[in-house]
Amino acid sequence: MANLRFKALETAMNRNVPVVTAPSNKVSDYYGTNVFGMEAMRANLSTDVFKKVNRAITEGSKIDEDTADAVASAMKSWATSKNATHYTHWFQPLTGATAEKHDAFFDVLPNGSAIEKFKGSALVQQEPDASSFPSGGIRNTFEARGYTAWDPTSPAFIFGNTLCIPTVFVSYTGEALDYKAPLLKALGLVDKAATAVCQYFDKDITRVTATLGPEQEYFLVDRALYMARPDLIMAGRTVFGHAPAKGQQLEDHYFGSIPSRVLAFMQDFEYEALKLGMPIRTRHNEVAPSQFECAPTFEEVNLAIDHNLLLMDLMEKIAEKHDFKVLFHEKPFAGINGSGKHNNWSLGTNTGRNLLAPSSRPKENLMFLTFFINVIKAVHDYADLMRASIASAGNEHRLGANEAPPAIVSIFIGSQLAKVLEDLESKGEIKVDKGENMYRNLGIDKIPNILLDNTDRNRTSPFAFTGNKFEFRAVGSSANSANAMTVLNAIMGNQLMDFKKEVDAAIEKGEKKEVAIINILRRYVTEAKSIIFEGNGYSDEWKEEAARRGLKNIASTPEALDVYVDERSVKLFGKYGILSHRELEARHEIMLENYIKKIQIESRVMGDLVLNHVIPTAVKYQNVLTSNLKAMKEVGIEGKHTQNLVDTVKKISGYIDTLLDSVENMTEARKKANNTSDTRGKAVLYNQEVKGYFDKIRYCVDKLELLVDDEDWPLVKYREMLLVR
Ligand code: ADP
Ligand code: MG
Repeated sequence: MANLRFKALETAMNRNVPVVTAPSNKVSDYYGTNVFGMEAMRANLSTDVFKKVNRAITEGSKIDEDTADAVASAMKSWATSKNATHYTHWFQPLTGATAEKHDAFFDVLPNGSAIEKFKGSALVQQEPDASSFPSGGIRNTFEARGYTAWDPTSPAFIFGNTLCIPTVFVSYTGEALDYKAPLLKALGLVDKAATAVCQYFDKDITRVTATLGPEQEYFLVDRALYMARPDLIMAGRTVFGHAPAKGQQLEDHYFGSIPSRVLAFMQDFEYEALKLGMPIRTRHNEVAPSQFECAPTFEEVNLAIDHNLLLMDLMEKIAEKHDFKVLFHEKPFAGINGSGKHNNWSLGTNTGRNLLAPSSRPKENLMFLTFFINVIKAVHDYADLMRASIASAGNEHRLGANEAPPAIVSIFIGSQLAKVLEDLESKGEIKVDKGENMYRNLGIDKIPNILLDNTDRNRTSPFAFTGNKFEFRAVGSSANSANAMTVLNAIMGNQLMDFKKEVDAAIEKGEKKEVAIINILRRYVTEAKSIIFEGNGYSDEWKEEAARRGLKNIASTPEALDVYVDERSVKLFGKYGILSHRELEARHEIMLENYIKKIQIESRVMGDLVLNHVIPTAVKYQNVLTSNLKAMKEVGIEGKHTQNLVDTVKKISGYIDTLLDSVENMTEARKKANNTSDTRGKAVLYNQEVKGYFDKIRYCVDKLELLVDDEDWPLVKYREMLLVR
């Protein structure tokens, strides 16, 4: 076959800009039409059934059998009226993707005719054969059954012609096998704990909801070019490729005009997303060439995560129609920016307040500061867990590289709030009076005015306060945010529980409420301020400074994951029933295995490409040069020119030798690692030894790419993948 690269390039260059199929009418005309949400439920359920479901959603009450039957029946009628033929329990196994097994609605009657059927029992619970999903040893194949259970807080939706019902996935013995089950528990905890603390300030607050707005970064590559890169297909990232002459150095891509072909893709997937009730609002070019971002308006965390997973799925499907491939990998291309999923997070009350938004009323600012400082304290005390929650093979390339937040967990709060905390900490005796003087004396009466000027942004911080929310920027672009959100909400819930205990104890001793709160917050500032950092998180000085402050910089994934099973984490998650010790051990094992497999695949792809693509091409070109050299000598041309040729041939053979040695050594390292029975030990070997060869191998291949005739180079080059549209 002729060089696949040139075939692919030809296909990619002859693409037309497709006609956008999304209608131009108002979004409100079609928003959420494929969702069995509140509106559809109100229209399709009896008042009584609707009330019961609503209570289950808002208060977590149980749904009885009759209600489930009624909901199932209404759901089925609604779905079939929209041409759905199948239904599925949609869940989030620990593979990281979402899973679904479609069942048809119809059932055959004894007389041979068919009817459409969907019972309450099928809505509420299913038993997919779970033996092929990772369980970290919890579920051996003898008890392969796991079951999925309906999560009524996330509405059912129609995808293609399938009714999808969001569910949790649990083993037969009750352990969580998915991301959603522990997340829901952590969200329950933070609700309970935050509501209790809110009671100090506002008796009307009876419910607190954690909110999430995930900004999703991604790359687009023409599908034909993607198909000509085995590394992209198998590892999701390019393991080789010399940096193009023009990368992102001109800084001309960020917020630049969106290419027409890309815009058509965006309009199409946004249309589908909007019909599925996802509030997608923002789209723009990102920093790197061919990198883009989309962001929804924030929603309740559980729903936002379901939507984000569905969005990624949807984008991949729509991209096929547009002959693109979406890359969600954290670092698909070396030398240019990687992709993250910025998790904007806050806490909202049933009274419509954002607990992390400063207020114009000084009194409310004590409530703001209470939550603000408790976040800082929680993240300070559990920084390692925050780091572990974002650890993955893909994100390992990003964290600590010179464009993404470092592997050191720190918090950026902006100079104004830094000053507020400083003042608060250093103020002497607090005098509580009837007026608002106390707040003025403390310097917390003017926060909002200052914060309105929200230019104070720090893009190098892994966890930044951005005016009315925190932005956890270190989450990987391909990640299920549930990991990060389970940890953040769990540590926040735990922190608020502790805070409440301390305040209550002080009040018991006769201290005035406000004084008790302020004193405890001041102490928290003292204890946690080492994690606050306003400077450049990418700088080497910060690494040194962080070490002086005792903050950890954990670069490797296997090491970062350790904390999931240490005593403090086991205690924390166990205390609130979020994850048991057994579940944590299982998850730890699964994450390590996942890491091992990813590195193993990358290493194999590298070896194959070197041996089957790169070396044969280099040898061929080397032969061309040596024949040329011989011919020159024959006609009597010798001197500088032939010496240059000899040097080039030597360079090429030097790289080939190094490659052959390195690939062989890497294969040996893999064998050694594979023979290690202990999973953590194996992961460490993959991290330190196998991965240790990657840079050297890549260096040689990228050098050869520059030396070998372009006509022969088999792998699509960076400049082609990143700049051809
Ligand atoms: P940026 O400048 O970081 O892009 P945006 O204002 O575009 O900031 O917001 C980014 C994301 O933050 C959006 O998804 C937005 O809905 C979300 N967001 C805003 N307020 C909150 C909140 N209270 N809780 C959670 N997310 C929020
Ligand atoms: Mg942002």
